[in-house]
Amino acid sequence: MNEALPIHCVALSGGVGGAKLALGLSRVLPGDALTVVCNTADDFDHLGLRICPDLDTVMYTLAGISNRVTGWGQAHETWSFLEALSHLGGETWFRLGDRDLATHVERSRWLRAGETLTEATDALCRALGIAARVLPMSDDPVRTIVLTETGELSFQHYFVRDACEPAVSGFRFDGIDTARPQAAFLSALEDQATRAILVCPSNPFVSVDPVLALDGVEEALRRAAAPVVAVSPIIGGAAIKGPAAKMMAELGMPVTAAGVARHYQERDLLDGFVIDDADAGQAAEIEDLGVPTLVTGTVMETLADRERLAGETMDFARGLGARCGDRAGTSPPERFA
Ligand code: GDP
Repeated sequence: MNEALPIHCVALSGGVGGAKLALGLSRVLPGDALTVVCNTADDFDHLGLRICPDLDTVMYTLAGISNRVTGWGQAHETWSFLEALSHLGGETWFRLGDRDLATHVERSRWLRAGETLTEATDALCRALGIAARVLPMSDDPVRTIVLTETGELSFQHYFVRDACEPAVSGFRFDGIDTARPQAAFLSALEDQATRAILVCPSNPFVSVDPVLALDGVEEALRRAAAPVVAVSPIIGGAAIKGPAAKMMAELGMPVTAAGVARHYQERDLLDGFVIDDADAGQAAEIEDLGVPTLVTGTVMETLADRERLAGETMDFARGLGARCGDRAGTSPPERFA
């Protein structure tokens, strides 16, 4: 990545795919230059505890303690709690490891004491030694309801208990009308020091759309001086993990990177899009939507992959700055000095 790298980046993230890019960004940017905003519409209360799967995946990944095999939870996990719970006839469909449990216990304790989710997250991040700022999208509850052929399902029942099997016909985000976007999130979008807003390669429907649906977020993205660049979670017509491709097919969309670009650009949100080499043939289709497209390797297997994609995406965003400078009425040199 070159030296004139734009700094101060806001990354919108779900869990696994988002956390991979966030880790890359955290390694190519100074710690105080990265804000990761996490979806909280997957959050739920279980066994008396508040569980925030996307926040936890991002925190564990940035702290270097994530379980790379499962994609969720912590490495070196033990399962005594779940075994004992099973013995008592308790609910074990949601896998809670012993180490992971400590996070939920502490967070729930702070929330019960009247702290906000932002404050609880900040305390967890400090304890885990995370330099980047990790924010929940909102301190107010928003809950994804998955509309399926067999009726409505809460997100974790769809995702974990039913293993994403029911065919989806749509989504509803309960609480979205009254939830306020986290204040520092909105101001970071508008901050002149923010040089790139990245939409991570997360599930467009259940990880990114809840963040976008918060009051004022889409307007802020369209108004932002910084370019908005999304990375495709669909590669070669498939998702690397999770139900994104299956959802696209069930919703009658083409299961392509271009389909993801169109999903965002229908709302005029994008200044740039990043697709995999495997999908190079779709670049012209995406450019026809008015979205400059970077074609590169986007599969993040190693740490080096994460760093390279983060660096290339930031460089791409910097190159798009001129266009956004016109939009914001500021000159590029001023914005990227
Ligand atoms: P979840 O909340 O844990 O499901 O995580 P996300 O929504 O953040 O991520 C799910 C998406 O990440 C899936 O659609 C995957 O295809 C995508 N994904 C996972 N790993 C990679 C990767 O290495 N590269 C890209 N481009 N996408 C990825």
